[in-house]
Amino acid sequence: VTVAQDLLIEGGTVVTVDATDRVFVGDVWIRDKRIAGVGPPRSLAVPPGTRTLNARGCIVCPGFVQVHVHLCQALFRGAAEERALLPWLSERIWPLEGAHDAASLRTSAELGIAELLLGGTTTALDMGTVRHGREIFGAAARMGIRLVSGKTHMDVGSGSLVESTDASVKEACLLADEFHGAADGRLHYAFAPRFILSCSPALMQAVAHEARQRGCLLHTHASESPGELDAVRAATGKDNIIALHDLGLTGSDVVLAHCVWLNDAEQALLARTNTVVAHCPSTNLKLASGIARIPELLSDGIRVAIGADGAPCNNRLSAFTEMRLASLLQKPRLGAMAMPAAQVMRMMTQGGADALGLGRDIGSLEVGKRADVTVVDLQRPHLRPTTSSPLATLVYAAEAGDVRDVFVDGAACVRNGRLVRAELAAVLDDADRALLQVAARAGIANP
Ligand SMILES: [Zn+2]
Repeated sequence: VTVAQDLLIEGGTVVTVDATDRVFVGDVWIRDKRIAGVGPPRSLAVPPGTRTLNARGCIVCPGFVQVHVHLCQALFRGAAEERALLPWLSERIWPLEGAHDAASLRTSAELGIAELLLGGTTTALDMGTVRHGREIFGAAARMGIRLVSGKTHMDVGSGSLVESTDASVKEACLLADEFHGAADGRLHYAFAPRFILSCSPALMQAVAHEARQRGCLLHTHASESPGELDAVRAATGKDNIIALHDLGLTGSDVVLAHCVWLNDAEQALLARTNTVVAHCPSTNLKLASGIARIPELLSDGIRVAIGADGAPCNNRLSAFTEMRLASLLQKPRLGAMAMPAAQVMRMMTQGGADALGLGRDIGSLEVGKRADVTVVDLQRPHLRPTTSSPLATLVYAAEAGDVRDVFVDGAACVRNGRLVRAELAAVLDDADRALLQVAARAGIANP
């Protein structure tokens, strides 16, 4: 285990994402896992002998915060192509998820966390899966990422993922008691009913109650595709967000992934309840779900952050891809000024942190915050020449492979483009082997 060490990151272009979006060339001082100073070169009162890291020619920014991912699906990247949401779920994702054993889930989580860390993401909200959830927390604890995760709940329908209501709630409570606040506060638990169509009203109400008893987030999917809306209306007689609200699944502690299709009443309800929308632009395009009206949601005062969702519907877990798309998607409809780089960068950092209730601890490079820091190497042709808009460089031009160093709680997770706390080659070998085993158990040939 790598221990956090005090460190001065010197001479980079510091993108703070503080209240005034300060950007300057200077230093970031990490002391006791937190940011102890941010300022112009050699301006900080750093004790002699403090280790230094040369960041000249780099951007130093807050680690990215993705508010909707599925680590259990990292293993299924490329194994569920060219399908819309409901067949994508029923033909591939649910059978594959149901065929996970503890070892394959561990491998999937390691693969996903490796990709997130190597791409500069330091915090993620993960949807988990129905069984073996301890493996995901274990992988996060070992590899150093900050993770909010929770067991997925499904008690309606058929298939190997569906459980009894009581068993589902009971297991989640045990996991929450074990992992919420674990690893020196780096792990958090979120209750994660999959979506309204796979959860009974009794289950939804029970997890909402248990989450609020413990101060945990609630994390679910909502209003991703038109077919889903019709099915929700048939099942509940209500529009999706109204039905969720009536079950207790709105509020400042609720993250709803997608929200592509909302009517005016639903939009007003999200604003009034301070519910968070997790925008997943790549997924919404690839599953042909539609384009979420994010600028309209933001101007209504709705809290929006961003996530890459699952590897089989993206197929990347890159914060850079999602930032670029989140901006570009809106411009043909609303004009070139829509979703500017600074706004999107804020959504992927401080906005994501706020969405997870962690905004006082992470999300910007400011004194007192936990030292979650990403260093992006600009020695690449697609990132040059140097301009006065490093935010535009990050949002429109940079890629996951440009990340050089990543720190979480001041501990190095990536150095010089390499994972520090896991052996990547072993993870990749395990992933190839594990996919074949899971697919065989699921009865899927040639994944
Ligand atoms: Zn999802």
